[in-house]
Amino acid sequence: MNTASSNPLPEVIHDTAAMQQRCLALRRAGKRISFVPTMGYLHEGHMSLLHAGRRQGDVLVLSIFVNPAQFGANEDLDSYPRDLDRDLELAAAAGTDLVYAPLPQDVYPEGYATYVDVEGITDLLCGASRPGHFRGVTTVVSKLFNIVQPDVAFFGEKDFQQLAVIRRMAIDLNIPVEIVGLPIVREEDGLALSSRNVYLSPDQRSQALVLAQCLATARQMVAGGERECAVILAALRQMIEAQPDVRIDYLQICHQLSLQEQQDVDADSVLLLAVFVGETRLIDNGYLLQG
Ligand code: AMP
Repeated sequence: MNTASSNPLPEVIHDTAAMQQRCLALRRAGKRISFVPTMGYLHEGHMSLLHAGRRQGDVLVLSIFVNPAQFGANEDLDSYPRDLDRDLELAAAAGTDLVYAPLPQDVYPEGYATYVDVEGITDLLCGASRPGHFRGVTTVVSKLFNIVQPDVAFFGEKDFQQLAVIRRMAIDLNIPVEIVGLPIVREEDGLALSSRNVYLSPDQRSQALVLAQCLATARQMVAGGERECAVILAALRQMIEAQPDVRIDYLQICHQLSLQEQQDVDADSVLLLAVFVGETRLIDNGYLLQG
């Protein structure tokens, strides 16, 4: 990705109190704040959120924080890719004004004891395979909302369940922010962009294409008249099992709002997949009936 930009680098604030004061002052000055929360190691998926944020607000704020609370004990918190200098170049190219990049001990100081838990939809899918993950996400996102005080916040449909959970949380906690979801950005060959794609060897990367191929196949089957979820899922399972290094975490067709599994495909159906390619966990999803 070309990181060259003529824009000035954004201001970076590490200190939480300073960030909150800065954002409070911006709001008092009548500025509309657009906010894009990320874990950094930016790619074109993040860039699409930043571009939308630039268009929809006076001030564009990006947070970069690899949030320990959303990683399980055996997950990749320590190895998660980080490159703040490169991220700042990319943030500048997207016209970002302010970057909040706190340290974990600042976000979760000694004695920290408060967590936000969305019930129900967090028990399914990623929530079932990553216990505590969404509690970490909703806790940090609600903290970020309190610190940044955005008018509008942007999230990717790549993390479909996360978006649903955050919408639920914002409604339930009366958080005065508009949540905007944006489509998945993919590589030319279909692989959904993810910071974790750097973990893949060339051979694993080609096996990972099975995710996008599953989505394409499911859509073809639906376009051809198939409506029975079990039939579609069986075909997809076979495709995945043909890849030696790919293991299914979950493979489901769910209602887009309730995330409950469906028997038959309808206009609300979303295919949701999570697989391990070697050690790397990748997710993907897409609506099955479009139009
Ligand atoms: P992350 O840094 O992985 O926590 O992601 C930060 C935000 O970027 C989340 O709202 C993600 O859903 C979004 N995102 C990540 N990958 C993509 C992608 N390929 N397309 C669109 N949005 C994405």
